[in-house]
Amino acid sequence: MASLKDAFAKSITTLNVKTNNFMEETKCKTYIATLEEEIITLKKQIGEIVYSIWTQDVDLKAQVAPLIGQIEEKQKEIKVQEERIAMLSVQEQQILGTGQNPMPNQFMGSPIQPVIQGTGVQSAADVIYCGSCGAQNASNYKFCIKCGVPLK
Ligand SMILES: [Zn+2]
Repeated sequence: MASLKDAFAKSITTLNVKTNNFMEETKCKTYIATLEEEIITLKKQIGEIVYSIWTQDVDLKAQVAPLIGQIEEKQKEIKVQEERIAMLSVQEQQILGTGQNPMPNQFMGSPIQPVIQGTGVQSAADVIYCGSCGAQNASNYKFCIKCGVPLK
């Protein structure tokens, strides 16, 4: 009877680990989707800037560089999430003992930490309103993301 009880306990452990990892992975994937949406928004803003200054004598790179920087940050964050997803399956194999490979060295000795950080949302203080159309813009933007007029 003891072995049946052990088998039952082991299947519960397996279920718990799989459920937890599934939830973690879902969280990571949701976060990646959010980051990707934000990247799309930033690229749209770049498009607006390029479009609005196309006929004006303005330093294009100076306008676009901060947005490119934000995209790079988000892409790094996506990498972190993807590594975390990969680590979850390694961890699952280790706990459940179904993997052939031991845990890779880079994952040893570091407890799993939640990696969700700031999502780049601007605080209210960083927002200015377009004098022409009233759209919200980050205070560092030089042109309205909606209508393209220069912001003060
Ligand atoms: Zn506007």
